[in-house]
Amino acid sequence: MAEANKQSQAGQFDVVIIGAGISGMYQLYRLRELGFSVQVYEAGTGVGGTWYWNRYPGCRFDSESYSYGYSFSDEILQEWEWSEHFAAQPETLRYLNFVADKLDVRKNIQFNSRVRSARYDEAANLWTIELEDGSEASAPILVSATGPLSAPQMPAIEGVDSYQGEAYHTGLWPHGEDGFSGKQVDYANKRVGVLGTGATGVQVIQEVAKTAGELFVFQRRPNWCAPLHNSEIDPKTQTEIKRSYPEIFKICHESFGAFMHKMDERSALEVSDEDREAFFEKLYAEPGFGIWLGNFSDILSDQKANDLISEFIARKIRERVKDPAIAEKLIPKDHGFGIRRVPMETHYYEAYNQDNVTLVDLQESPIERITPAGIKTTDKEYELDVLIYATGFDAVMGALNRIDITGIGGQKLKDKWASGPKTFLGMQTVGFPNLFTLVGPHNGSTFCNIPRCIEQNVDWLTGLITYMRDHKLAHSEPSPDAEAQWTKHVAETAEATLFPTANSWFMGLNDNIPGRDKPVFMLYAGGMPKYREKCQEVADKGYRELNLE
Ligand SMILES: Cc1cc2nc3c(=O)[nH]c(=O)nc-3n(C[C@H](O)[C@H](O)[C@H](O)COP(=O)(O)OP(=O)(O)OC[C@H]3O[C@@H](n4cnc5c(N)ncnc54)[C@H](O)[C@@H]3O)c2cc1C
Repeated sequence: MAEANKQSQAGQFDVVIIGAGISGMYQLYRLRELGFSVQVYEAGTGVGGTWYWNRYPGCRFDSESYSYGYSFSDEILQEWEWSEHFAAQPETLRYLNFVADKLDVRKNIQFNSRVRSARYDEAANLWTIELEDGSEASAPILVSATGPLSAPQMPAIEGVDSYQGEAYHTGLWPHGEDGFSGKQVDYANKRVGVLGTGATGVQVIQEVAKTAGELFVFQRRPNWCAPLHNSEIDPKTQTEIKRSYPEIFKICHESFGAFMHKMDERSALEVSDEDREAFFEKLYAEPGFGIWLGNFSDILSDQKANDLISEFIARKIRERVKDPAIAEKLIPKDHGFGIRRVPMETHYYEAYNQDNVTLVDLQESPIERITPAGIKTTDKEYELDVLIYATGFDAVMGALNRIDITGIGGQKLKDKWASGPKTFLGMQTVGFPNLFTLVGPHNGSTFCNIPRCIEQNVDWLTGLITYMRDHKLAHSEPSPDAEAQWTKHVAETAEATLFPTANSWFMGLNDNIPGRDKPVFMLYAGGMPKYREKCQEVADKGYRELNLE
């Protein structure tokens, strides 16, 4: 893998982009092709973002591979071959490097360069970013492509630094020798602890359980999981996929979350018990997110409908886990199915039938502290050789909050958003002119098959930046009214769902971060078609909601 060295490319550009994941690479390419001078700063030593950092065992996406790649280049679509329906991390990182080669984007990316601060100079209409090494670069336009799940979060547990064994955070997994996969850790004959049972924790647990001497799963709260049903793509299917890309992207374009799964228009409450059961069984047996995002239209918005799918999944868990007491511990009681991000699994529940796997229920016996030897709960101390933190991220706002961003009049973005984000289209915020947040909070791409929505975000922003150039406009900032209306609309979309009933990162809650105990919806739950339509309307009407000067 070509990994560029850090070289000083500080200077002044038309556009500075922070982050070289799927968003940053595509935004760079689009603007560069239109003649803008663009520079990307990336903390990692290579492209790929999520797929560069998350190299933990079992890491893969839950979007169908062929729906996850970029759609804008027929050449890339036809040349790349996904080997599985749901590709694993090394393959996705290979893919993103293949794209980086094709588009020749590395020459405009400075790697190993974490942006520490960004400051807007009102008089000069210029953003100046400062890297951790103190070097600076400026541009009138600053685009954050810093990712929704890119700020790894350690648990707020006493003694976390005292542990003496091997320890890994899933989002900072060390690199393997081939340049694409993660370091291979030998778990045989070792006592391994996994802290966290979200989407990442589930992937790690089912993988590590295969070889670990003993695996202790420390579960604070169970999540509702559903089978992924991954498989290899055979040559005939490969040909069919390549032939049908237009249809694949059409399905994504029209569906709520830009996935290959469309919600069924029926209510779960209007069909007979037999029909409902048969439909749930069918979805449970099918690959991917269909059970979540291709289910009856009201399972995420009507408590009674949600209770029905939750009861169905609970029954499946009881069938799959032999020990009824363990099965009960794995069934969430505090929220319904799909109201938090659904971890997709492969033999996850069966792992708890193995002799080498122990579920430690932290509701029964909370962790007192992490010790030099392992984890001490109120019940006992678990001595561990390897401790894996699957404790996730400071989601959605985290990467932005970790940059000291200062707008007009010295206002900090972090302060402005302290009690929740306020945005227009999840793209801009008042007081921070020319700062654009791809996949930012309140943005349609947050509850989405993200690359599909990244392309929409980037294309829309490219349209705006080009419009500004064509009309000799140098300054874009939403009106306070536009921001207030969008922020209100975002809250309304959440209130129409059951999302506010759960403690989740969708709601901005994180037990590991002080002050993040008040629910504020971070995503956009109006669906991608509605979001795209609104963005298009804003563009068609000459960006009236933005003060363009
Ligand atoms: C384990 C996992 C599984 C996922 N599975 C799916 C899935 O199935 N389907 C789906 O749609 N989405 C999935 N996602 C979400 C995934 O993040 C997005 O799909 C997508 O990768 C986001 O791309 P991005 O370019 O916007 O952000 P990222 O890929 O996160 O890239 C952001 C980049 O910005 C860089 N950066 C951040 N801060 C700074 C800074 N201060 N200075 C310099 N560089 C910085 C980071 O190093 C990173 O490289 C998953 C995420 C994870 C973590």
